Amino acid sequence: MFSGANLPRVGTYNINVVLSAIQASDGTSRVEIAQQTGLTAQTVSVIVRRLIEQGIVEESGSRPSGAGKPRKALRINPAAAYAVGIHFDPLNVSIVVMDMNGQALARSHQEIPPGVDPEALIAEAARTALSLLSDLGIPRDRVLGVGAACPGPIDQAQGQVSSPRRRDRWSEVPIKRLLERHIGLAVTIDNDANAAAIGERWSGHGRNVSDFAFLYMGTGIGAGLFLSNHIYRGVSLNAGEFGHTVVEPNGPPCYCGNRGCLEAMCSPAAIVKEVHAELALGRASKLALMYEEGPALVDHRAICLAAAGYDPVALQVVNRVAEYLAGCAVTIANALDLELLIIGGRSITHVAEIYRAKMSEFLRSRPLARRSHIVRVAISDMADDGAALGAASLVLHAAYAPDTAHLTRV
Ligand SMILES: [Zn+2]
Repeated sequence: MFSGANLPRVGTYNINVVLSAIQASDGTSRVEIAQQTGLTAQTVSVIVRRLIEQGIVEESGSRPSGAGKPRKALRINPAAAYAVGIHFDPLNVSIVVMDMNGQALARSHQEIPPGVDPEALIAEAARTALSLLSDLGIPRDRVLGVGAACPGPIDQAQGQVSSPRRRDRWSEVPIKRLLERHIGLAVTIDNDANAAAIGERWSGHGRNVSDFAFLYMGTGIGAGLFLSNHIYRGVSLNAGEFGHTVVEPNGPPCYCGNRGCLEAMCSPAAIVKEVHAELALGRASKLALMYEEGPALVDHRAICLAAAGYDPVALQVVNRVAEYLAGCAVTIANALDLELLIIGGRSITHVAEIYRAKMSEFLRSRPLARRSHIVRVAISDMADDGAALGAASLVLHAAYAPDTAHLTRV
């Protein structure tokens, strides 16, 4: 929980500290906020009155308080503001409209046909988002903004993916500028792992956790880091590229310049390649018949489904990947002293529990990782929508999370 500052000229920060305390709870009271934040009862009372007048917070029900009279419960007014989140993935565009409580009110998923121009996709995403807002009857002036999530690394100055060595659909496309032009709202851009972490902080497993990482396995593998109650972005705003940790020094070359990166060893393409090699040797597997019909049929999804059904070949390969990921989880936990590790992203569908179990096993059994506490591992409940929900949360977070920069900004 954040602490407030009982000093003059810290108004915005304290407002956001109070708002954060209300948002993180399920109905808190003025007295509890003062206790949690260290702000005086009078400061809390003034801020809460202002937030109620602005329609951002509402009193709903009451909370028992021992012998005294019940305290009014404070909650965020979900209709106070809205945000749009758009996840631009190489294969799909996912869009959500989110209320102030972090609940998705509408969603859209579009698969991207091959060869489509990125600007046409952005224009189509903008049209879809505006039509979702219109269907929900949300006026434009209640929308705080649009969050866009893409596979990193991101060039924040240009508002685009900066990945010249990876032939990615979204590389060097000025997503922020194009989206702002087509949608007519302010756009915030971030990588999918950061977005997913903020989404978890706003309305998922990270809601009351001060130090956690989200290991996001989508197109690549990256981590969103939420440390000491703040998203940690690093000097160039691209912290958390754990996908380029070397796990096999003699492994295949990666576009980043290393060999045997986690991403190169654990990506869907790497899994498919290894399973195909095993099947080509004639190993007994439920996938063998499918492979004979056409190797392309044995894709990442089919392999993950087979692994979940205990197919020996699929399970052997997925278990190997799980061990690499678990080793990396221990490194992250050792380096950052985390309370919680959340895993999610499109690549772990059907095999999330295999990955979670292996990570938990490593974190429980490695002496450094368990020295003071066992790091919990949770599977994101946001499924394929994690990055889109996180992208919408970026907007709410930017507007309402306590930012110590407010204290020093001239
Ligand atoms: Zn790499």
